[in-house]
Amino acid sequence: MSRSLDPGQMLTQKHPMTEIFTGNFTQQEPIPEAGIEAAVNVMRNGRLHRYNTAAGELSETALLEQEFAAQMGAKYCLAVASGGYALAMALRAVGVQPGDAVLTNAFTLAPVPGSIASVGARPVFVGVTEDLTIDLQDLAAKADQAKVLMLSHMRGHLCDMDRLMQICDDAGIIVIEDCAHTMGASWNGVLSGRHGAIGCYSCQTYKHVNSGEGGLFITDDEEIAARATILSGSYMLYERHLAAPAPEVFERVKYVTPNISGRMDNLRAAILRPQLQDLDTQVARWNERYVAVEEGLRDTPGLTVVERPEPEVFVGSSIQFLLLDWSAEKVQEVVQRCGVRGVELKWFGTPEPVAFTSRYDSWQYADTPRMPESDRVLAGILDMRVPLTFTLEDCAQIARIIRSEVGAVYQGA
Ligand SMILES: *Cc1c(COP(=O)(O)O)cnc(C)c1O
Repeated sequence: MSRSLDPGQMLTQKHPMTEIFTGNFTQQEPIPEAGIEAAVNVMRNGRLHRYNTAAGELSETALLEQEFAAQMGAKYCLAVASGGYALAMALRAVGVQPGDAVLTNAFTLAPVPGSIASVGARPVFVGVTEDLTIDLQDLAAKADQAKVLMLSHMRGHLCDMDRLMQICDDAGIIVIEDCAHTMGASWNGVLSGRHGAIGCYSCQTYKHVNSGEGGLFITDDEEIAARATILSGSYMLYERHLAAPAPEVFERVKYVTPNISGRMDNLRAAILRPQLQDLDTQVARWNERYVAVEEGLRDTPGLTVVERPEPEVFVGSSIQFLLLDWSAEKVQEVVQRCGVRGVELKWFGTPEPVAFTSRYDSWQYADTPRMPESDRVLAGILDMRVPLTFTLEDCAQIARIIRSEVGAVYQGA
C-alpha cells in the first residue's frame, strides 16, 4: 500500500527524508470466497429470513449461533442486528428497568451509554486509568450505586478481570461485557465475554469480523438466553435455534417478554461463518501489525506507549498511545502534521464529538459530574486503526512518521 516518494515529489529543501503514507485506514480485506459463495447461495434460494427454512434445512443464522457458542465455550448464543442491539437486549434480559442506574466506562463508544439510555436507564460512568482500562478503585467506590455493570473493553484493553469480577461478585453486580474490540482476546486464559453473565460482540465492518452490521450475544444462563431470544424477535420459532435453551425454559418467559425485533438474517450469517473460522489467524496478523507500530513508537520522547499486561491476550486491530499532559494545541498540531503525511490519528481530547471519538461529557443526557483524572487521560489519548490490508512495512513507516512529528512538536514545546 505504501510507497516512497519519487525524488521529484520530495520536499528537498526542508525535509529531505519526508515520507508520506498513502494507504487507506478504512480499507477492509475482502470477504472470504467461501462466505461469498454461501451468501450467493442464500440469495439464489431466496430464504434470507432466519426462520424461512426448507424441510430439514438448518438456517445459516442458526448454524452461526451454534458455531460461535462452541468457539466461545458458551451454552447459548444469539445472532442479532448489531452490537448495540445486543447490548440493549442484554440490559432488558437481565431485567434493567427505566430509571435504573447502570455502571459503565467513561472511556467508551457512544452506542454503549446509548444502549443504556435506550431502555430508559441512567448511565453512571466509571473512570479510565492510564492503562486505558476501567478504574477499579472508582468502580469499587461506586459499586453500591447500581446492580448492573456494562463493561466496555474499549479499544481492546482488558482490565484485571479477576479483580473486577471479585468486586462485582462481592457487590452482587451483574456484568455485561461489551466485547466489540475483544472478539478473540482473553484474560488469564479466559476468553473475553466469558467472565460476565453475558458477552456482546459487534460484526460491524470496523470490528473483528465483517458483515456490514451485526451482533452476537452469548451466555450460560438459560433464562437470560430464553428472554433474549424472545426479545430479539423469534416469533415463537425458538425451536429452530441450535444454541438456545430447552422449550420448557421458554414456557416460563414467553408471555411476559416482548418481541423487540432485531434479528440477524441468513445473508450476513453466511458471510460471517467462514470469518469466524479464521479468527485466530486474523488475530495473529493484527498483532504482528500492532507490534510493528508499537516497536516503532517505543522510546519516543513525550509519548507514552500503553503497555499490555502479561495475562492479557489482545487483538491489535487499533493502537492507542498517550501524549500525557501536553497542551491541546500541541496535540492538535501532532494530529494535523501526521494527517498531512497520510497518517490518520483520532484524538479523544477534542471538545467536540468527532466521528468515533465522543467521550462521557459528549453524552449530556447522562448529566455526569466532571471526572478530572479521567479528563487528563482522555485529553492525552491518540488512536489509530490498524487494518489488515496494511503490510508490516506500512506499519513501520507509519510509526516513523508519528515518531518524527511527535518529536518535532515536542522539541518545539
Ligand atoms: C462498535 C461498537 C459497539 C456497537 O457496535 P455496533 O455493531 O456498531 O452497534 C459497541 N461498543 C464499542 C466499544 C464499539 O466499538
